[in-house]
Amino acid sequence: VIRSILKWPQDGRRLHEKSVPVPGDEFEDIKELVQDMFETMYDAGGIGLAGIQIGVALRIFVMDNHEQRVFVNPVITAFFGKKELKNEGCLSLPGIVEMVERHEEVDVEYQDHVTAAKKKIRLKGIEAQCAQHEIDHLDGITIPDKMSPLDRTRLASKLSKKGIGI
Ligand SMILES: [Zn+2]
Repeated sequence: VIRSILKWPQDGRRLHEKSVPVPGDEFEDIKELVQDMFETMYDAGGIGLAGIQIGVALRIFVMDNHEQRVFVNPVITAFFGKKELKNEGCLSLPGIVEMVERHEEVDVEYQDHVTAAKKKIRLKGIEAQCAQHEIDHLDGITIPDKMSPLDRTRLASKLSKKGIGI
């Protein structure tokens, strides 16, 4: 089922919500959610989507950059390399690309969405960037929060001029 994606700035308050961990006994209940998240992400043409972007404030995100990955209760446990400015988009900011500082490689610890087993993976490049972006979402942070107040105001007015959210 394709869900609607929260958009900034009109859904800014909900996007600022900090997501809570998926409890150990609720993994059975997230199967449909995971399916819906992939369908919604593919429909919107993205490579990553966090639960909060469809209004579900659970610590979960999906990713597909040539391989489907699901991260439940993810934590970045190590960063590698210097932070570099990279072009970044967000399904909650359609049509917008901004420069955001990200590490080139990260280790992510998470739980498997089927077995709840703890796992760890090292992600590089686009996948590392995506994981940092999605985990920001779980903490209530979207790209505009990383911008200066002036740039943020400019972005909001640019989006309203495009007619998004009307
Ligand atoms: Zn995003």
